[in-house]
Amino acid sequence: MPDPKRAAIIGAGFGGLALAIRLQSAGVDTVLFEKRDKPGGRAYVFEDDGFIFDAGPTVITDPAALRALWTLSGRLMEDYVTLIPVDPFYQLCWEDGYRFDYVNDQDALDRQIAEKSPQDVAGYRRFLAYSEDLYREGYEKLGAVPFLRFWDMVKAAPQLIRLQSHRSVYSKVASFIKDDQLRQAFSFHSLLVGGNPFDTSSIYALIHALERKGGVWFAKGGTGALVQGMIRLFEDLGGTVNLNMPVDEIIVEDGRARAVKAGGDRIPVDMVASNADVVHTYQRLLRGDPGSQKQAKALQKKRFSMSLFVIYFGLKGKRPDLKHHMVLFGPRYRDLIDEIFNADHLADDFSLYLHCPSVTDDSLAPDDHSAYYVLSPVPHLGTADIDWSVEGPKYRDRILTYLDEHYIPGLKDDLVTCRIFTPFDFRDELNAHQGSAFSVEPLLTQSAWFRPHNRDSAIDNLYIVGAGTHPGAGIPGVVGSAEATAGLMLGNTPRA
Ligand SMILES: Cc1cc2nc3c(=O)[nH]c(=O)nc-3n(C[C@H](O)[C@H](O)[C@H](O)COP(=O)(O)OP(=O)(O)OC[C@H]3O[C@@H](n4cnc5c(N)ncnc54)[C@H](O)[C@@H]3O)c2cc1C
Repeated sequence: MPDPKRAAIIGAGFGGLALAIRLQSAGVDTVLFEKRDKPGGRAYVFEDDGFIFDAGPTVITDPAALRALWTLSGRLMEDYVTLIPVDPFYQLCWEDGYRFDYVNDQDALDRQIAEKSPQDVAGYRRFLAYSEDLYREGYEKLGAVPFLRFWDMVKAAPQLIRLQSHRSVYSKVASFIKDDQLRQAFSFHSLLVGGNPFDTSSIYALIHALERKGGVWFAKGGTGALVQGMIRLFEDLGGTVNLNMPVDEIIVEDGRARAVKAGGDRIPVDMVASNADVVHTYQRLLRGDPGSQKQAKALQKKRFSMSLFVIYFGLKGKRPDLKHHMVLFGPRYRDLIDEIFNADHLADDFSLYLHCPSVTDDSLAPDDHSAYYVLSPVPHLGTADIDWSVEGPKYRDRILTYLDEHYIPGLKDDLVTCRIFTPFDFRDELNAHQGSAFSVEPLLTQSAWFRPHNRDSAIDNLYIVGAGTHPGAGIPGVVGSAEATAGLMLGNTPRA
């Protein structure tokens, strides 16, 4: 393989950006091509009527993984972005009025658990120890390792078996904790990376230890400020960012990626990495390569994560009684999640995540106003063929009425601005297969070696980075995938 000189990265999501920084830091001339007018991907920013809305990720975990992107080139993350700790991590709320402050203070956690269910104090401690074990084995050791060979999977198998990764997140949590609401409190996390807690491997229960160890943070100015900090770092290193520049095709000749087609031009490169959706990459961008078409068909048979329905809204006044991150459980847990992942229709009830960033940061809304988003997990378009142009506005009104009645009295009177993002937008804006919000579903049978690999098996200068590859969705996941992919592109990882 000739010395890599020039790399193209398709997509400026967190995975694409982290990879771009790693390559450019190592001296590879790297060009980012992004379809939309702003970088960030799922972490896009909407600016409406003086409000700033982070479109996607708001819970920043494992700050060390982000900081590493700066230290690679001897720079300081603090010169580019400020992270603020969030406390409580989340407030969890149920319709019967019960609230649980999910904090990083062991005494406060024990106290709340003891009040709710005394027998679960010890059970929670055992769960935490289990989660820490998963974190060491699944995240620290394997989170940034490319699973190119089945042998890599075999080597990891003994630990996966010992940790009972064949069981679901919920079933493991339930084996430690007896109270129904506390079981929900410690099992919902896999939904944050697109996993059904009743189906997804218990390995994803590591998220609890990840949060307890690294904390939950918010970027001052919003997640968009973190994205801008990464862009600035990449450009300071000499990298090039092309916005409003969708890649139309990856040109493969003689078994190698030779160029990308964008803006009507053919741009020759030595290596290509796609951060775009994996099905879009294989089906559309590699449409001229027969082997990739087979791969696209195989990928389409995989199960994809649910989609999300998101409402971004701004209000007159502030709501100091709200917490920064709130999870609002509806009347049903298991059955609702089952409908979201498997039913061909929209459920009558919902569970919501409410983001209230103005609690932490005044700069996101005009004076004496506050910014929010609320999201509801919904089936993706392959599961439920819903016409969101019709259902979206109705669903929005149902959710806003619910919030007005239960959590934010006066919301409707104080509403200043409002926009929605539906599964159609995931499909059309982000090229996401079936409008999935988190790409390939994190099932055990679709994890590690079973996930799309970080390097194509036939085109050996073609790489994949982001939520569709190992280890999966979420900022820590895609930043880990960038480390794995960079290792391959820079020749630091041996070939199979
Ligand atoms: C609403 C929401 C909330 C979330 N909350 C959290 C959270 O709090 N914490 C957390 O850690 N994670 C969260 N996640 C998950 C996390 O945001 C994602 O898993 C992660 O950001 C995905 O990053 P990625 O690198 O895979 O790329 P993506 O963000 O998917 O970006 C891919 C990019 O590729 C571009 N693209 C596509 N096709 C082309 C093309 N042909 N040419 C050029 N560009 C193209 C797209 O426009 C996009 O910018 C959330 C996700 C959503 C949707």
